[in-house]
Amino acid sequence: MSARILDGNEIAAAMREELRSEVEELREQRQITPGLAVVLVGDDPASQSYVRNKGKACRDVGIHSVQRNLEASATLDEVLEEVERLNADPAIHGILVQLPLPDQDESQVLNAIAPGKDVDGLHPLNLGKLLRQEEGFLPCTPHGVQQILLRSGIPIAGQHVVVVGRSTLVGRPVANILLQKAEDANATVTLCHSGTADLAAHTRSGDIVIVAAGHAQMIGADMIRDGATVIDVGINFIPDPTRKSGRRMVGDVDFEAASQVAGAITPVPGGVGPMTITMLLYNTIWSAKRHHGPN
Ligand code: NDP
Repeated sequence: MSARILDGNEIAAAMREELRSEVEELREQRQITPGLAVVLVGDDPASQSYVRNKGKACRDVGIHSVQRNLEASATLDEVLEEVERLNADPAIHGILVQLPLPDQDESQVLNAIAPGKDVDGLHPLNLGKLLRQEEGFLPCTPHGVQQILLRSGIPIAGQHVVVVGRSTLVGRPVANILLQKAEDANATVTLCHSGTADLAAHTRSGDIVIVAAGHAQMIGADMIRDGATVIDVGINFIPDPTRKSGRRMVGDVDFEAASQVAGAITPVPGGVGPMTITMLLYNTIWSAKRHHGPN
């Protein structure tokens, strides 16, 4: 059996088209331009590239985006002052601090972002709202995973979802999103981690298996049930002498092997990755609408 490929680029492009129309409508009918600020501390090349991509994605859909750069040596107070300035700026509806921070306390910085502008959905208030099933910002990668399933017509309600990884960024929120008592969720969720005994027995029982563990190709075909849906969140690099860079990106799932047994699977790259930025755009637009009230 060869699995159906869940193309994240295609789903993200369709969503961005919808978001572009929404931004146009907001500007023309209500003179509102959604604004996102990205704070970059230090000059890590990977972070610089992520931030550049976010700026480009904003411009593509018509979101106003600004970037604030601070030296790696900036004090915690200097980072917090920048966040406070953006909290008070009425043109900014979303604030994202690019992680990891070189040296500053990440919790203190994330907690300083106004919860109403926390488009990354990582502020304790928004994570708490998710747990209580109240309206708030959903973290981007987990929300993107849900959108891939929904927009691919894969049933979630009543299905057994097995999540591998319990991070605050991915595993825990995706489990909570799919567990919600709601039409677009309502799954039975098992959350696995490094202390799980017999991981394969759990993953083999999943109708949907979501992997966010950070280990290259750790989930093989023998860990997937015939016909299951596999969502691979992992981003890892392995040596590949055939590439100019000498390495290639792979997920946490052995794609070649797993796609022989799975019913549907996300590739890496081109699966969950493109959805993460898309959901950031979605949250920024939603935030702008909330700030300005209904119509
Ligand atoms: P973390 O390292 O924060 O968390 C990894 C989780 O996996 C932990 O809960 C850990 O368990 C668990 N784990 C590790 N090894 C095993 C194992 N052998 N068996 C079972 N569970 C295990 O990673 P993140 O959640 O931040 O990211 C996960 C992956 O997703 C990474 O590859 C990251 O690069 C990628 N990622 C991709 C994004 C995208 O946009 N596509 C966005 C964010 C992340 P324990 O808690 O016990 O330590």
